[in-house]
Amino acid sequence: MTRKWVLAAAALIALLAGCGKEGTPPPKGPQPSALPSYQVRDAAGLTGSPTLDAARARGHLVVGAKEDQPYLGEKNPATGEYSGFDIEIAKMVGADLGFAPDRIEFRTIASANRETALQNGQVDYYVGTYTINDNRKKLVGFAGPYYLAGQSLLVRGNDDTIHGPQDLNGKKVCSAAGSTPYQRIQKQYPDVQLIGYDTYSACVDNLITGQVDAVTTDNTILMGYAAKVPDELKVVGPLFSQEPYGIGTPKDDTVLRGALNDALAHHEENGDWKRAYDATLGLSGVPAPAPPPIDRY
Ligand code: GLU
Repeated sequence: MTRKWVLAAAALIALLAGCGKEGTPPPKGPQPSALPSYQVRDAAGLTGSPTLDAARARGHLVVGAKEDQPYLGEKNPATGEYSGFDIEIAKMVGADLGFAPDRIEFRTIASANRETALQNGQVDYYVGTYTINDNRKKLVGFAGPYYLAGQSLLVRGNDDTIHGPQDLNGKKVCSAAGSTPYQRIQKQYPDVQLIGYDTYSACVDNLITGQVDAVTTDNTILMGYAAKVPDELKVVGPLFSQEPYGIGTPKDDTVLRGALNDALAHHEENGDWKRAYDATLGLSGVPAPAPPPIDRY
């Protein structure tokens, strides 16, 4: 091939790479970006954590998560793989404990069962939209927070009666049993017909089929469902709580809690946190905020 042909071919390839097919609409909204990979640390010097000792003896970590929360914690039914922002958080801190992502076994635990799972040693730690609060701190420990969410409402796209919690009286409102949003409605909005399911996806199914009028939980979770079916669902109203997300740990394992806080700080600083956010939760439409300050209580 002559030099002229090589240049012409290179120009053609560049041209093809640069433009989409004719008639293809420009992509809308945030585009998927690459997930970070996490460098596994030698954590042999990290001693005094009974949870970590058990995981080392077992050969892998067991981490509690959600499996039906888009962009946060989702399980692929075909492959069994978990993905989402919470899953990335679990993997990045796992790497600092000496465990590569393929040495983490994820286990789905519903909102109402998290404290028991941590107390019984069913999971080493838990990453799944888990709000840090004083009641829960009596039962479990929390590293973090690593994200700040707030309670909101999901309604059908054609509903124009619900704009905030003040409009919920007499309405059927669904949330996950054992969650802070469920408890808040129960306490502060006693005239709401509150329905509790194990999962938010069950609530969303009931919203789409008209059995309930609204689903309430953290905006992050609701935005994920709305992003999946934007023609049918919308998130409405202001955020009416603060939900700081923590990594749940066994209560007395303060060595593990400290190591998880160090790991979060490390990955926030080196950019992994933001890269992980952009590739997962960022896809539901909100640009990455700054992570909240870690509370080493
Ligand atoms: N963040 C809230 C909670 O921890 C709601 C989300 C959830 O149920 O996981 O209860």
